[in-house]
Amino acid sequence: MEVSWWTRALKVLPGGVDSPVRAFGGVGGEPIFIRRAKGPYLYADSGKEYVDYIGSWGPMILGHNPPEVIEALQEQLSRGLSFGMGTDIEVELAELILSKVPGMEKIRLVNSGTEATMSAVRVARGATGRNKIIKFRGCYHGHGDSFLIQAGSGALTHGAPSSLGVTPGVAEDTLIADYNHLEQVSALFAAHASEIAAVIVEPIAGNMGCVPPRPGFLEGLRKLCTENGTVLIFDEVMTGFRVSDGGAAKRFGIAPDMITFGKIVGGGMPLAAYAGKESLMRNVSPLGKVYQAGTLSGNPMAVTAGLAQLRTLYQLNPWQALEEKGMKLEAGLKRAAASVGCAVQINRVGAMFTIFFSDFPVNDTESAMASNTKCFAKFFHAMLDQGILFPPSQFETTFFGTQHSEEILTKTVAAAQIAFEKARA
Ligand code: PMP
Repeated sequence: MEVSWWTRALKVLPGGVDSPVRAFGGVGGEPIFIRRAKGPYLYADSGKEYVDYIGSWGPMILGHNPPEVIEALQEQLSRGLSFGMGTDIEVELAELILSKVPGMEKIRLVNSGTEATMSAVRVARGATGRNKIIKFRGCYHGHGDSFLIQAGSGALTHGAPSSLGVTPGVAEDTLIADYNHLEQVSALFAAHASEIAAVIVEPIAGNMGCVPPRPGFLEGLRKLCTENGTVLIFDEVMTGFRVSDGGAAKRFGIAPDMITFGKIVGGGMPLAAYAGKESLMRNVSPLGKVYQAGTLSGNPMAVTAGLAQLRTLYQLNPWQALEEKGMKLEAGLKRAAASVGCAVQINRVGAMFTIFFSDFPVNDTESAMASNTKCFAKFFHAMLDQGILFPPSQFETTFFGTQHSEEILTKTVAAAQIAFEKARA
């Protein structure tokens, strides 16, 4: 008998994967292996087609293999993969991003969201001469040591929100508050005001499932940071170029001091970035004394993909249409759940959402964690059986994009009605 890829993977990769959530730990069962993708679809090695609501965890807002990105990559491929020197296209990408995102004056390209957030915090520490940061329980900012305290995403799914291997010294410098609980942030400032270099926040939390900010929460963070000389970092790795043409900062009209980007900005290639005001970014080496570098940073293939995806996005200007699609999908899913008596809460902002299996509104980590993950697992598998791939965890965000047609949304709602019936507690 042929040995499955999963069996082979388990022998050579820890947990069979290169990133934990892919192991289906939150839903059980054998993970799928993907061979190729096109538009809104993924194709497994078995040949089975799936409507993709993960979108590579966010980047594929134009669907898979958009011709504009593929053609640009083919052209770049003939020029070379990596030069280890500056390129015209990295300057163009930097110019484009800065022109679209309010308040940001300089940007540095890196290779992953993790690098972007780690570097942004280092800049904030270097610029302020302070050590501590505030992060929020259930928010995820990549796997940098400082962020693996009460972290979200796979850390939450796999029941290890605080990682082993992070030294007590590092942990001590990460102060934790509950997302959407401004009074806790005020209390931390009252206790540690002159020590807090940065507050880092997902302006729309996506890594405990999708949890939008309560009115006044982000405004309150802005005020506290301004009053205390603390750098406010919006981690827009997930929300950047997704929830508006200028991300969450523009959508909510709030100006952070720094923003981190990933996912969409790289068009599906490993590219991320951190941006900030000139007064902060002048600390970055070689201008200043905060060191940060990368052999492959600004990699021409990654930059080409990102530039092509962003240019296509700005030509299409799809954000309003995505909002409308989101409203339809949300309403359809709510109707489907209600029709079979399945209690759900759907949190959505633009083209990102989560179906929480809960009787109560979900607006912080505690209420997210109170959802019925067993119902979610049943729902997930019932959708998968019908050829629709949702993120394999209650504590992740579902993404769709320009390629999810009306027909696909209708099919999704019909499939969800069957899945809600099976999932019902
Ligand atoms: N920040 C946020 C908000 C994220 O959602 C993620 C990844 N899901 C990261 C940072 C880390 O990015 P990466 O996985 O590229 O390191």
